[in-house]
Amino acid sequence: MEKKNIEWSKLGFDYIKTDYRFVAKYKDGAWDEGTLSKDAQVVMSESAAVLQYAQTVFEGMKAYTTADGKIVTFRPDLNAERMIQSAQRLEMPVYPKDKFIDAVCQTIKANAAYVPPYGSGATLYVRPYMFGSNAVIGVKPAEEYEFRVFVTPVGPYFKGGVKPLTICISDFDRAAPHGTGNIKAGLNYAMSLHPYMECHRKGYDENMYLDPATRTKVEETGGANFLFVTKDNKIVTPKSNSILPSITRRSLLYVAKEYLGLETEEREIYLDELGDFAECGLCGTAAVISPVGKVVLHDKEICFPSGMNDMGPTTKKLYETLTGIQMGSIKAPEGWIYEVC
Ligand SMILES: *Cc1c(COP(=O)(O)O)cnc(C)c1O
Repeated sequence: MEKKNIEWSKLGFDYIKTDYRFVAKYKDGAWDEGTLSKDAQVVMSESAAVLQYAQTVFEGMKAYTTADGKIVTFRPDLNAERMIQSAQRLEMPVYPKDKFIDAVCQTIKANAAYVPPYGSGATLYVRPYMFGSNAVIGVKPAEEYEFRVFVTPVGPYFKGGVKPLTICISDFDRAAPHGTGNIKAGLNYAMSLHPYMECHRKGYDENMYLDPATRTKVEETGGANFLFVTKDNKIVTPKSNSILPSITRRSLLYVAKEYLGLETEEREIYLDELGDFAECGLCGTAAVISPVGKVVLHDKEICFPSGMNDMGPTTKKLYETLTGIQMGSIKAPEGWIYEVC
C-alpha cells in the first residue's frame, strides 16, 4: 500500500479529509449494516435533533504504525463501552460494542494510506460519533440516528519538544453535580468554549475546573483528566462522578502499579493540597500526558517542583512506558492492542 504524500512531522491537529468514513443508520428501532462511504458530507433535516437540542455523543482514539509495521489501535473496547454509557444518558440507541470495534477497524483499514509511518510521531486520529438525525421540534429524543466514524492524520503532540503547561483555575463550572460531566458529549464542549477562550485571552493554556458543589476539589480540564505525583512518588488522580473516565488515565494507573511498582490512589483532591504535589500532568488520547508546570488561581501561583522546562521524572517514566506499550516496544497487557491490519 502506498502512503499519501503528506509531510507527517508537519501535521497539526486539524481536520484533513480522508478517503472513507463508516456510516450506519438507525431507523424503525434497528441499525442497518453500515457501510464505508466516500462522501464526507452529512445531509439531514434543518430540524434534526442534533442541530436543535445537541443530541450527539462522540469518542476519540488513535491508530498508528508499530515498530514491526502493523497498524494497531489502543483499547477500542473501552471506547465502545464509554460510547454506550454516553448514548444511554442522552436517550440514544446503543451501538453494539463488537460492531463499534468492527466499524473503527474497517475505517482505519480503508484509510491505511493515511496512517502515519512508525517513528514519524504522527498518528491517525479516529472519531466515532452518533447523532439524532430526524426532525424534532417538541423536546424529545430523535427516532432516527447516524453512527459514523471518520479518521484524520494528526501531527506529533510535542512538536519542538515538551513544554509544561500553565493552567488557570476557572471561575466557570464544567459540569453539574448530577449532570453530564461523565459522558463524552458535544454539549460539554459547547459550554466550555467560552471559558477556554477566556483562559487563552489571559495567556493560560488550559482551565482547571473545580467540583461545582463546593468549588474546593479538582475535577479536570475541558478535555483531559489530571494526574498528580506526590513527593513520595505515589500517583494520585481525582475521584468524582462528574469527570469523564479517561481511558489514558485508567491505563496510566495500571502502568504505574503493574509496570513501575508505584502506589496509586483515586481519591478526592482538594485545591489546597495542590502545593504538596511534586508533579502534575494532563492525560488524554491526544498527548498521553502533558506536563503541567504551574497552576494559577487569581493572583496566587502554585509551581510544581518539576518546573517549566521538562516533564517530571515520574511523569516521564509513565509517558515512556505507556507510549512504549502502544508502539510495541514494551509488551502490552493482554487485550490492549488491537491489530487492524
Ligand atoms: C475525551 C476526554 C478525556 C480523555 O479521555 P481519553 O479516553 O483518555 O482520551 C478527558 N476529559 C474529557 C472531558 C474528555 O472529553
